[in-house]
Amino acid sequence: MHDVRASSSMSSSDVKREALALGFDLCGIAPAAGFPELRFLDEWLARGYAGEMHYMQRSAGRRADVRNVMPAARSVIVLGTLYNTDRPYSTTLPDAGHAAIARYAWGDDYHAVIERRLDSLVTRLGGIAGDGFEARAYVDTGPVQERVYAQHAGLGWIGKNTCVINPVLGSWMFLSVVVTNRPLDPDAAALDQCGSCALCLEACPTGALRAPHVLDSTRCLSYLTIEVKGSIASALREAVGAHAYGCDICQDVCPWNSMPTTGVSTDPSWQARAGLAAPRLLDLWRATDDGLRALLKGSAMKRAGVKRLRRNLAVAIGNSGDPDAASALVSSAEPTARDPLVEEHVAWAVEKLGGASHHD
Ligand code: SF4
Ligand code: SF4
Repeated sequence: MHDVRASSSMSSSDVKREALALGFDLCGIAPAAGFPELRFLDEWLARGYAGEMHYMQRSAGRRADVRNVMPAARSVIVLGTLYNTDRPYSTTLPDAGHAAIARYAWGDDYHAVIERRLDSLVTRLGGIAGDGFEARAYVDTGPVQERVYAQHAGLGWIGKNTCVINPVLGSWMFLSVVVTNRPLDPDAAALDQCGSCALCLEACPTGALRAPHVLDSTRCLSYLTIEVKGSIASALREAVGAHAYGCDICQDVCPWNSMPTTGVSTDPSWQARAGLAAPRLLDLWRATDDGLRALLKGSAMKRAGVKRLRRNLAVAIGNSGDPDAASALVSSAEPTARDPLVEEHVAWAVEKLGGASHHD
């Protein structure tokens, strides 16, 4: 489909006004161009850094350029949605008995919430742009390298921790994009402001940040606790620490997330659910499968499911150093606790805690 009109009736300021009205915190525009940074994906995949995320490989051709997704694409509208809340960072958890859960997963599932907002935005923009308007909206799972377009849309630079960092608000934001066939005035690209800092690389517990801007997902706790379907490699289990779902360390330590201006959202969608506000590992473990399913319903954590969550909990409890926890681990009769995958991690944890036999 072609836009035959010489110029769009929709301006960049129309787009930004509508985006902000719908609750997006940031909106910038990048041209639908073949930016050099897009080419790093092939090398990253060739190094095996995507691990089991085969969808990355499958969609690599489309991810190389948004014009592979929409041949008539002229602009990429990039939206940022802050999800930070005013709760403490994982690096300051009160003690080892608490579960570390990635900040973005505490509230409602961002895919669902942001998809609804993107649908509304596309509808509104269609009303302004008129005939011939083409748009495709994606949040996170689409075949678009959002971070590269975010940098070129001026939302922030891609930090050494691979997150997009806004110089005022920090990096706690969901990115989403609307690819459109309309030419729009682009924003200036953001400038890299990491400088000589290397705090994220130094703090990563598994060395997953192999070099500035280079994440080996196969070592990253986000990948290991969410994407991996089978066993967590024994050699990395200790480094999992208290992480039950995802990891925030490389954002927690980033100075751009500890500024007076760092964004804090009051959006009810991102506030921690009752059971996910600094839960204790053992409380989560002792919950029934149905209870855990109810907790995960409508949350981004449902991506891992109850079985993987239990597997992660077993490892984290094994790392807690609490010898009394071993008996709790072996005494659960819930079906997912009896799953061979989970039982294998429970056995590892029990051994690490010094055994459970004297509790039985
Ligand atoms: S999320 Fe955690 S494990 Fe992954 S790179 Fe960052 S600090 Fe390392
Ligand atoms: S911790 Fe330092 S090096 Fe890492 S992303 Fe933040 S500013 Fe950049």
